[in-house]
Amino acid sequence: MINRKLFLVAIIFTAIFIAVFFLSSRVPQRDTQNERIHIVTSFYPLSHIAKSIGGNIVDVRNLVPAGVEPHDFEPSSRDLVEIGNADALFYNGASLESWIKKWNVGISVKPKYVVNMEESLKKQGAILFVKDGITDPHFWLDPVIMKNEVIVIRDLLIQIDSAHKDLFTENARRYTTALDLLDEHFRAGLSSCDFNDIIVLHEAFNYLASQYNIKVTSIEGISPDEEPSPKELARIINLVREKGVRHIFFETVASPKFSELIAREVGGATLVLNPIESLTPDEVQSGEDYFSIMEMNLNNLQIAMQCH
Ligand SMILES: [Zn+2]
Repeated sequence: MINRKLFLVAIIFTAIFIAVFFLSSRVPQRDTQNERIHIVTSFYPLSHIAKSIGGNIVDVRNLVPAGVEPHDFEPSSRDLVEIGNADALFYNGASLESWIKKWNVGISVKPKYVVNMEESLKKQGAILFVKDGITDPHFWLDPVIMKNEVIVIRDLLIQIDSAHKDLFTENARRYTTALDLLDEHFRAGLSSCDFNDIIVLHEAFNYLASQYNIKVTSIEGISPDEEPSPKELARIINLVREKGVRHIFFETVASPKFSELIAREVGGATLVLNPIESLTPDEVQSGEDYFSIMEMNLNNLQIAMQCH
């Protein structure tokens, strides 16, 4: 009886394996004249750039659903099949996607183009922050570095579909102009402030802080699930008191408990500083995007830093 059950289980697993294998090994034959380019991105900022540059020509599927943060996201077997069938996969790199290492060495079928943004930025000469041997992955929060990401995505779309070179070039130019404007807003908006120190939840804002000369203290590590020790919390509370900081930042997709605890402890308030790793369902519903959230971040920074 047990043997028969085991045999049945083995047959079912074999059937699932064969089905997944055939689905994922289906090689896409793209008709360049009529068919849209199929792009898969690993998280929100990359999908926003790809959609903005690709317009109607490009079909973009973002792997991480709304409200889920990408640091510990795992793709489903369906996602893996979709990646295999895409023309290109864009991912951030620098250990943001914990699944990518396994996927890179695994037997999964891979798209023709796989772009690791970290490597592409380094090739362009971007200087990335490294702490304890780990590269900080949060470069999309610096509008100046984002301009390099636009170039990478534009150039690959042109390589895949050169017939639409003019459209991709024009859309990329518009996106870059919007990034220049955002950069100007940050520079002007933070030029005259009473405070220079901010306290944030997870260590996502080093690039932003470096670009605009802000001193940042992070309550948690590079990933939001690296919780602080009681000793570290006490150190941050002392620092907050010493610097006279009145606002502690928290995030929309991670738990606010430590930010709230510190704010309560020092009689301060909490404010959102959004690392834009994923939009919440509410943000999607109300049509927020990278630019509108960055403007909201600037607004909240001006409140916390008492800019005038
Ligand atoms: Zn992060």
